[in-house]
Amino acid sequence: MSRFLLGILVLSSLCIPSLEAQELKLGAFAADITIPLGHRCMGILDTKALRIDDPLEARGFVLLGPDAPIVFVALDWCEVRNGAYDLWRDTLATVAKTTRERVLVCSLHQHDAPVIDTEAQSLLDSVGLVGELFDVPFHQACLKDVASAVKRAVAAAKPVTHIAIGQTAVDKIASNRRLVLADGTVSYDRYSRTAPDSPEALADPGEIDPNLKSIRFLSGDETLAVLSSYATHPMSSYGQGGVSADFVGLARRRRQFETPGAMQIYASGCSGDITAGKYNDGSPQSRGVLTDRLYQAMVRASNATVAHRIDKFAFRCESFDLPFHDGEPFKRDTMTAVLKNDKASTRDRILAAMGLASLNRIERGQPIDLPCLDLGTAQVVILPGESFVGYQLMAQRIRPDSFVMAIGYGECWTGYVPTQHAFEERFNHDWRWVGVGCEPILREKLSSVLKP
Ligand SMILES: [Zn+2]
Repeated sequence: MSRFLLGILVLSSLCIPSLEAQELKLGAFAADITIPLGHRCMGILDTKALRIDDPLEARGFVLLGPDAPIVFVALDWCEVRNGAYDLWRDTLATVAKTTRERVLVCSLHQHDAPVIDTEAQSLLDSVGLVGELFDVPFHQACLKDVASAVKRAVAAAKPVTHIAIGQTAVDKIASNRRLVLADGTVSYDRYSRTAPDSPEALADPGEIDPNLKSIRFLSGDETLAVLSSYATHPMSSYGQGGVSADFVGLARRRRQFETPGAMQIYASGCSGDITAGKYNDGSPQSRGVLTDRLYQAMVRASNATVAHRIDKFAFRCESFDLPFHDGEPFKRDTMTAVLKNDKASTRDRILAAMGLASLNRIERGQPIDLPCLDLGTAQVVILPGESFVGYQLMAQRIRPDSFVMAIGYGECWTGYVPTQHAFEERFNHDWRWVGVGCEPILREKLSSVLKP
C-alpha cells in the first residue's frame, strides 16, 4: 500500500464517523449461464448457437448491512425483460432474504448470448413457436444455480472495511454511433464493426465517456470483489453462432486469473449509442486487441484506486413509467396480427411478442425501477435497456462531487432509450419500444436517487 493511500486511510478513519466494520459484509458469487447449442442468440438472430467459444457467466455480490441485504448481479446475456426481469429479482430476493427492489440485475449485452423474456416466450408458445426466443428449462436451471451461488455467498460473507475507487481513460474502444455525413445529414449507423479506412472508421469518436470506473471492496488488505464498468456495446463480432462473453468477458477472465481471491465483476455502462465500431473490423484479431485494451484499463483503474472507509451506506430506489412507442407497428392490433401470422418471419413474430409483453406490462401499471446503491464516496445506479451514454454523463453531472457509476441494460423491455437530442434527430430502430419524452423523466429520477 502506498504511503499516500495509507495516509488517506488514516485520515478518513480519524475524521469521518463510520459504520462499524462488522455492520457491512460482502459475499461474492459466480455461476455458469452458458446457453446450450441450438439456442437463439440476441433474441432474433437467424444463426443459432453452433459452438461455445467461451462460457457465459453470472457474477455478482451480496451486501449484508444494517438493513435488508442488497444483491447485485451482472449477466453475460444480451437482455432480460419483463417477467424474466421480475423472476430474477424475486428468486434472488427470496434466497438472500430481501425485497425485489434491493436486487440489482443487469445484462452485459453481448449479442452471441440470449434475450430472455418470459411473457414474450409464453405468447410465442401460444402460436407454436415453442423455445424460439429462449429455452425455458435452461433458464430455470440458471436461476436455480445462481440462487445457490447467492446462498453460498451469504454464508461466506466477510466484513467490508473500505472501498477503493478509481478510473482511467480507455485506449481506443468506444465510439458513438452518431456521424455527421459529408452532406451534413446525421446518421446513427456506425455499428460494432467497420471497414478500415471507411468514413465510419475515420470519423471522430463523438460523444463517449472515456473512463473505465472501478470499485474495489476491501476487507482490511484483502480485496473481496472488484466492480468495473465502461460504456460500450461489448461486441467485436457476432451472428456466426459462436457463443461468447466477447471482449469484455475475456478481459474480465484474464484479470480474474491474476486475482484469484477477488471476484472480478464487469458491467456495461449506458451504451445504447456506443460501439467499438471506429476501432473494430470484426476480425478475430480485433477481438484480441479490444480484450487487451479493456484488460489494461482494468489493471490501470485498479492501480489508481483510492481507499475510503465506508462512512455512509444507503439504498434508494425510484420508479417511473416511460412512454411506449406510438408508431403504427407498435399498436396492439398490429403486433397481435404479426404474432399470429404464420407467413411472417420468425424474427418479426418474436419482435411482436416482445412488444406485446411490454405493452401488457405498461397497461398493468408496472413501472421500471431505478435503484441506487450509495456507498458514500461512490454511487451505483442501474438504468433501463439501451440507455444512451448521454444519461451516464447526465448522472455524473448531477453529482460532480462524487464518483457515479451508471450501468445500463437493467430492465430491457425499452430497447434503445435515446436522449431528447437523438429523438429530435429522428433516431429510429426496430429495437426501440419507447416513445419521445424519456429524458425529462430520467433526469428527474436520477436527480432524486443521486441527490437525496
Ligand atoms: Zn444493443
